[in-house]
Amino acid sequence: MSEEKSLNFIEEIVEADLAAGKHKSITTRFPPEPNGYLHIGHAKSICLNFGLAAKYGGSTNLRFDDTNPVTEDTEYVESIKDDVRWLGFQWAQELYASDYFDQLYAFALTLVKKGLAYVDDSSAEEIAAQKGTPTQPGVNSPYRNRSIEENLQLFEAMRAGAYRDGEKVLRAKIDMASPNMHMRDPIIYRIKHAHHHRTGDQWCIYPMYDFAHGQSDAIENITHSICTLEFIPHRPLYEWFIEQLEIYPSRQYEFARLNMTYTVMSKRKLLQLVNEKHVTGWDDPRMSTISGMRRRGYPAEAIREFCERIGVAKRDNLIDVGLLEFCVREQLNKTAIRRMVVFDPLKVILTNYTGEGELLSSENNPEDPNGGNRDIPFGKEIYIEREDFMENPSKKYFRLAPGQMVRLKSAYIIRCDEVIKNDAGEITALHCTYIPESKSGSDTSGINVKGTLHWVSVAHAVPAEVRLYDRLFKVEDVANAEGDFKDHINTDSLQVIPHAYAEPALLQDGQEDRYQFLRKGYFCLDKDSTAQKLVFNRTVTLKDTWAKEVKKGA
Ligand code: ATP
Ligand code: MG
Repeated sequence: MSEEKSLNFIEEIVEADLAAGKHKSITTRFPPEPNGYLHIGHAKSICLNFGLAAKYGGSTNLRFDDTNPVTEDTEYVESIKDDVRWLGFQWAQELYASDYFDQLYAFALTLVKKGLAYVDDSSAEEIAAQKGTPTQPGVNSPYRNRSIEENLQLFEAMRAGAYRDGEKVLRAKIDMASPNMHMRDPIIYRIKHAHHHRTGDQWCIYPMYDFAHGQSDAIENITHSICTLEFIPHRPLYEWFIEQLEIYPSRQYEFARLNMTYTVMSKRKLLQLVNEKHVTGWDDPRMSTISGMRRRGYPAEAIREFCERIGVAKRDNLIDVGLLEFCVREQLNKTAIRRMVVFDPLKVILTNYTGEGELLSSENNPEDPNGGNRDIPFGKEIYIEREDFMENPSKKYFRLAPGQMVRLKSAYIIRCDEVIKNDAGEITALHCTYIPESKSGSDTSGINVKGTLHWVSVAHAVPAEVRLYDRLFKVEDVANAEGDFKDHINTDSLQVIPHAYAEPALLQDGQEDRYQFLRKGYFCLDKDSTAQKLVFNRTVTLKDTWAKEVKKGA
């Protein structure tokens, strides 16, 4: 596929750089802040960074951008590593911006010594007021002209813990009249007496994002530092630091972040959903997190394919979640094993059946010639889906009805003879006869039926809970919808079927197996399963309206 595809704009830049001999090979990085779990937007960035390095024979670092001690945690570090690995990528080095704290401090001293940074005693409000507006220049801080010696002494005292949080900051001395707000003497170090998840209490000053990110890139000799569009205005500052510090000239390139319909994708919002218990955790199958999607049964291949299909854009857009679901279906259709599960059982008694103990056989996956077969026990009593029977059917109804015949998948043709009801008039069972010569694979009955039903033998049925998930939000563009994003939560996004019945092969299958429950959708085993009860998540429905759209467009 990628052979015929034209290059995306970042690939064009890389190829031009390589052709011009600018680099012998490329180095990229994926730089998550460990303040939450990764989401599908991060998957986009991961696929792009690791994909580029793989394509052009370079390497990719996993760098934790852990410069904010307050919100970061090792739980997040571990989950991020799990997610990147699960997506199928291997980093060259695992690195932490916090490993560079000494080096970054030295960089800051260099700026101070060059007269390019100063300690400012102004409060946060005063600094904000000095900044001006995009149309009005800012004003210089009264502390801007401190001597190099005084700045050195004060900055060292900041580091030594002489001041409280917020009492002083270190600012770069650039230009308070710059049309770019980020160039108006940005803060590069702040005081924070906080415990850091890796450096402990070693530091009480921490570098700001802009002072940590580009320098970390330079330390690692990152050739192409790829980030999202909101960092375009930061680029002049990124380049200013590199120039003044005379360090490795990493270059920053920006692409459009992924936005997707019916979901949110900011860690701050996802954290709110978790904390306020709108979902069961970061890996709730309705979440846009990679761990949520994994628990829901999305294959890593499908997520990679999705990232490939959406491409790399230079302008923000909103991607239809239907495209992701299409990729999931396409992958699962090829790989998922087929099983029969009845969600809402209606008992069928085969009055003429005497072959107890009969084992039927059916293919695990008709799409996979090497998929093999599984045994399915048959019996005198079976469950079918209640909705597959109609007492007074219309003409076009091809499922079961009084006097009507259907095929039981991989088994026999049956005919409904009698409807059994309780005193309340509710249907409790059906009496049917089966046609012995109609066995699937050796059918000599000559009978043609239009309907085929899934079923489970009553004596062998395995109870299961099935969880059906719907979209977590009711509106397409959640981020731009009116009011608070939580106003748009779909409160019906989880439907639990507590008493479904599954064919017994499901007990023997592997934990990692992906299923198509015939006529029901794609499912996977959930981690809440116990020896007493299997729990399944619906990954995605069978219906694929998106495929039609894609074909129409093609
Ligand atoms: P969030 O706003 O969700 O917290 P973030 O950008 O703060 O996201 P980081 O951990 O800082 O999260 O991001 C790590 C990398 O992933 C960055 O390079 C960032 O640009 C990229 N990234 C984050 N969200 C998206 C997205 N929706 N689409 C593409 N890339 C993204
Ligand atoms: Mg961030």
